[in-house]
Amino acid sequence: MAQLTDDCFAFGGQLMSVDDALALITERLPILAGLERVPLLEADGRVAAEDVVAGIDLPPFDNSAVDGYAVRHADLTPEGVTRLPVEGRIAAGDDAPELGHVPRAVRIFTGARMPIGADTVFMQEDVTVEAGTIVLPPGLKQGANRRLAGEDIAEGDIVVGQGQRLSPQDLALAAATGRSWLDVRRRLRVAVFSTGNELAEPGETLAQGAIHDSNRVMVVALLKRLGAQVSDLGILRDDRTLLAARLADAASGHDLLLTSGGVSTGEEDHVKPAVESVGSLVFWRLGIKPGRPVAMGIVKGTPFVGLPGNPVAVYVTLLMVVRPLLARLGGERVVAPFSLPARSTFSYGKKTGRREFVRVGLRRASDGVLEAVKFPRDGAGVLTSLTGSDGLAVLGDDVTRVAPGDMVEVHPHGMMY
Ligand code: AMP
Ligand code: MG
Repeated sequence: MAQLTDDCFAFGGQLMSVDDALALITERLPILAGLERVPLLEADGRVAAEDVVAGIDLPPFDNSAVDGYAVRHADLTPEGVTRLPVEGRIAAGDDAPELGHVPRAVRIFTGARMPIGADTVFMQEDVTVEAGTIVLPPGLKQGANRRLAGEDIAEGDIVVGQGQRLSPQDLALAAATGRSWLDVRRRLRVAVFSTGNELAEPGETLAQGAIHDSNRVMVVALLKRLGAQVSDLGILRDDRTLLAARLADAASGHDLLLTSGGVSTGEEDHVKPAVESVGSLVFWRLGIKPGRPVAMGIVKGTPFVGLPGNPVAVYVTLLMVVRPLLARLGGERVVAPFSLPARSTFSYGKKTGRREFVRVGLRRASDGVLEAVKFPRDGAGVLTSLTGSDGLAVLGDDVTRVAPGDMVEVHPHGMMY
């Protein structure tokens, strides 16, 4: 595995903007994931490691888009009905006959090759059949119901671009051009820890002062949806030496180390000094809310991200910081998550210099415009604000105020992973 040096980032400040952090990630970190050749179906959800170039036209030949009758448009009477004898029949997969010089129609079915010389197809619903002859109405355009060779993809076109996360539709396109395998990026191996003396596993009886670990299951599930291969390494107690040892151990064999909790500046926040004892920090506070304490560093050559402890902050920082980091390390194009504009129904004030994510519901107003309704409770620990909202409205670093009627961009939950 590629080993990163501790000083591959040279940054002295402490509070960094999200954009500066993302620029560091995309400019300074290498792609860690190598290539893997997989059968087409296994490429679903993986990152394309190559530009896939079409070796053939799509469709490969002119063919009929409907069941009907193929004719030469020049044989039709422009102003009135046309009667033509029906000679020949061509189904999908058959060889195409020559239309010949004498005007005639050929019975044809969807996907069948166009007869040579024919350029137009009448839908069977539009014609009247009379004892071996068909009666064709006037007005059909030349080329109607015919699909031209190469009209979808031309030989030499790129059907899948390097760095693209592959969808079932992409696989269909690659298959249509004849590919049975694709070169994709190896899945990133991510080690996940929770930290905190108060944490108990779900299913365990809670002792005094304890809570169930809910971050880990969310983080692991999100990482899997983002295409990672996850090692769930459990809960670490608030002990600097132990944290340092476990992180150092996990560094070999993983492409990314991820913790949650313990990165604030309290006396019981031991992740930061632990990382500094076995590696170095690049930043440990970001201009992002919820989530300000989010640390990034390098431990024994492996990138490390320390997420905050509060579940909503974990969700936001994972999607806004870890997601682009994974994209970079995994050879995927780094793009902002999908968002759509919505009209705010709420007032909100904020400081400059930080990007805020407001949990909102989406609804259609009576004038048809999409509206963003703020979830009534703000706390970074309120898990129901994630289950009861539809997405995150993003308020830019320089914004200080949102008023009802203002347009905001909303990232719908399901479109970010
Ligand atoms: P910390 O940053 O460690 O002080 O944690 C901030 C808050 O998040 C505290 O209320 C923690 O109990 C809570 N927290 C930390 N880790 C988890 C976790 N894995 N699951 C649920 N809550 C957590
Ligand atoms: Mg803690």
